[in-house]
Amino acid sequence: MNAKLILFSNHIEWQAPNNVLIETLQQLQLMADPLPNRDDHYRSGERFMEHLTFVGCSPFIALQPEEAKANQTYCAIHLPQQSNHYYSAVDSMSTAPHCPHCRKAHPTWQTALQQWHKNQTQRWSCNICEKTSAPWQWNWRKQAAFGRSVIEILNIHPHEAIPSQALLDALHALNQTPWQYAYVREA
Ligand SMILES: [Zn+2]
Repeated sequence: MNAKLILFSNHIEWQAPNNVLIETLQQLQLMADPLPNRDDHYRSGERFMEHLTFVGCSPFIALQPEEAKANQTYCAIHLPQQSNHYYSAVDSMSTAPHCPHCRKAHPTWQTALQQWHKNQTQRWSCNICEKTSAPWQWNWRKQAAFGRSVIEILNIHPHEAIPSQALLDALHALNQTPWQYAYVREA
């Protein structure tokens, strides 16, 4: 199952100017050169393991494609192309997000999410307190990511690794807004 850690800004509309994310992440040595034959994918950099804190007893992780054994995944960084649509990714086993006002769960969030993909200006109304909020304002408990300029770190499983404060601070400095992160597994 593909799993990734996604870093995204609290300023959802923020779009990184050309190459800013690439240059910043390469300077931090979180990532290195582009991977051949994989558009917008980069090798993990020399300081990858400093920027991510692996918790518990992580199995052996391949950091470069050359280190990966047959069928083994390896860590890489993917910077999805920006488009007119918001990037969004929700964990395939996500539980319901909670209303930012009254904290009650959204009972029909899957349907709301499908509709939102067709019309991203839709806000979601809470059936308890009746207040409306954009999908990213709901509390997903690190199970969903939204934005225009996001960073995907591939082959990190939920809560296997957390971004260092230094990395979050460096991203914060890019747009003067805090960043957060989520874990997403594909179905
Ligand atoms: Zn509510």
